Amino acid sequence: MNFNRVVIKVGSALVAPDAKGCSGKYLLAIARFITQCHQAGKEVILVSSGSVAAGRKLIQHGSPVPSIPTKQAMAAVGQMQMMANWQRFFDVPCSQLLITHGDLKDRQRYINIKNTLRILLENHVIPVVNENDTVATDELKVGDNDNLAALVALVSEADRLLILSDVDGVFDKDPRSHSDARMLPEISDITPQIYAMAGGTKNHIATGGMQTKIQAAEKAVENGIDTYIVNGSKSEVFDRLFRGENPGTHFIARQGASRARKHWLKHTLKSDGQLLVDPGAVKAVSEKGASLLPSGILTVKGEFVAGASLEIVNQDNGEVIAKGICQYSHRDLQQIKGQKSDQIYNLLGFCPSKVVIHRDDMVVLVKTGDNKG
Ligand code: GLU
Repeated sequence: MNFNRVVIKVGSALVAPDAKGCSGKYLLAIARFITQCHQAGKEVILVSSGSVAAGRKLIQHGSPVPSIPTKQAMAAVGQMQMMANWQRFFDVPCSQLLITHGDLKDRQRYINIKNTLRILLENHVIPVVNENDTVATDELKVGDNDNLAALVALVSEADRLLILSDVDGVFDKDPRSHSDARMLPEISDITPQIYAMAGGTKNHIATGGMQTKIQAAEKAVENGIDTYIVNGSKSEVFDRLFRGENPGTHFIARQGASRARKHWLKHTLKSDGQLLVDPGAVKAVSEKGASLLPSGILTVKGEFVAGASLEIVNQDNGEVIAKGICQYSHRDLQQIKGQKSDQIYNLLGFCPSKVVIHRDDMVVLVKTGDNKG
């Protein structure tokens, strides 16, 4: 398994199959695979659907297509059942993250989600993500968990996205109506024809279909994340994945995508402010490729929220040495600049991060020494 951090999306049809509420029928094999990943030193984030499907039996509804408030009530009760169902398969703790598209679009919340995921993984807790169905309105929704999983893969900087479904992969025709349909093992270019091959969902429990899975794959591969659509209802699929084989459709990650992210950071993202830093910080950032700590910051210029894009400037000569996404607002930085990281909590009453700009969120513009930036 040549990945370090994987986002695994599990569809409703696997969590709550046969319209009978939550079940362990398919989760046992999935949980076993996740445990094997952990034993091999891999990090796993789950994006689990199934709250509406799991809650369906528990909320009265007269119609096969329940109203939105009825579905939201189903999600509220089903989410608990779904989380309890996952937890019983693991010795390590599971954690619940309910997010909406609105949260991912907001810089401050985006960085909060990123930090929370990082800390959960550092503590060997399994993050289980779902859309916050009870509050999300259409405008704020991602709408389906395939696309949500791709966004979670981006925010968590995963290097693999695994979409578990109840079909084997992407076919050139609908395999339910064409006996000669052929599965495509590899897709390197997501063209309109690929979308055309994928019809909508036929499963009344699931929200997405092959279309949303391909959209998710497109988002991920553009950002350098290899994506697989595989059949999560077959336990042998996990043995094959574990052996490093491809049991479904592999969407090949675009080469140079991490360079593209740095390019975006460097050229496209507008700066919201500047941090003027001392010679020690200049050396750490431009020579060693280190994160920026509060201790090296002398002056904060501009007004911005956490998640803003900032320039790091050498105070001595005014040169912009790097650019990056900041963990703190300008107000917070005014209080912690020049201070040691272990003072952040005492000064602010919170400490989401010991660094001001993490090296992963930074592009170095002026390099000295052998730093790889
Ligand atoms: N968030 C929905 C649920 O938990 C599922 C959305 C989807 O299946 O894509 O029921």
